[in-house]
Amino acid sequence: MNTNIFALASGLSDQELLARIAALAGKEREASVELVAHLAELDTRASLYAAQGHGSLFTYCTEILKLSEDAACNRIYAARTCRRFPVILDALASGALSLTSVRMLSPHLTPENHEAVLARASGRSRREIEALVAELAPRPDVPSSVRKLPGVTPAAPPPLSAPAPPPAIEVKPTAVMPPESVLPTSAPAARPATRRPIVETTSPERYRVQFTIGRESHDKLRRVQALLRREIPDGDPGAIFDRAIALLLERVEKEKLGAATKPRAPRAIRPGTDSPVSNGRLTSRHTPSHVKRSAWRSDGGQCAFVSEDGRRCAERAFLEFHHIRAYALGGPTTTENISLRCRRHNQYEAELVFGPRNRGIEGGS
Ligand SMILES: [Zn+2]
Repeated sequence: MNTNIFALASGLSDQELLARIAALAGKEREASVELVAHLAELDTRASLYAAQGHGSLFTYCTEILKLSEDAACNRIYAARTCRRFPVILDALASGALSLTSVRMLSPHLTPENHEAVLARASGRSRREIEALVAELAPRPDVPSSVRKLPGVTPAAPPPLSAPAPPPAIEVKPTAVMPPESVLPTSAPAARPATRRPIVETTSPERYRVQFTIGRESHDKLRRVQALLRREIPDGDPGAIFDRAIALLLERVEKEKLGAATKPRAPRAIRPGTDSPVSNGRLTSRHTPSHVKRSAWRSDGGQCAFVSEDGRRCAERAFLEFHHIRAYALGGPTTTENISLRCRRHNQYEAELVFGPRNRGIEGGS
């Protein structure tokens, strides 16, 4: 039956496919809102799921409804928060708020602030919600620390029978349950340690960064701390990171963009053309540094593709220098004709000009 859906989908036109996906996403939201509302009711009838052998709504959701732990938590949070502020159901239904956003905001909503906060949160990304939460409940900077993670030293592995040390991670505020919580401790309040890097807004303009480094980098850190003892007396890794990232950024910009402290004058332009000349011959499609810098500046380090309905691409990674008028069609490599594109949009625009079969022609331009 599910292979049938594939067949149906592949038979749709481009427009039909987009319309169908939008409709399905709407249906999914609708179903999810209805589920949240009903879970809110079930939450008030604890004896109902208790009679079925479940000690909490959480285990009922994971074991009977087959929701993942994360999905269960999000829905239970949303259910309880919606009971306090029913207006959230509408925001969930319209897609203005996601379940994750509700979960993050939930501990900070009050009868006094909820309308203003929800209005500000509407349509915001996870990172923006995180910044909003940091503003509502600023947290002090975390002290810098260098900690050895358990059991990663090849030289002296802990005995297998040794109990696992507590995870070296702080529990994020988003993981704090509402007061009426009946979730088990295995639910989000005590999530398993994750080794994923963390960059988290703790208060306006302050960020907590957490990652793991290898022994070599750790030894380098110790050496830098020793060498900079006069400038950074407490050896704060955060202060060293500040300096290191500034140096790295300068170097990477120089490598990628040929950023010069004193920009060189653009090369001579052959009269009657827009193309730079070198020794009297047209230069190749190679993009000179001053052109790269100019494109980077004018496009703000972001893909400059704008869709027909005016939506600008938000990509900032893997950007390429794109010839607005294709190089193969005589488009010059000048500041006016070079613009930033992400890989996908560079390819997409090449396909608009050359067709999908010749995507290699302008790729990387
Ligand atoms: Zn793009």
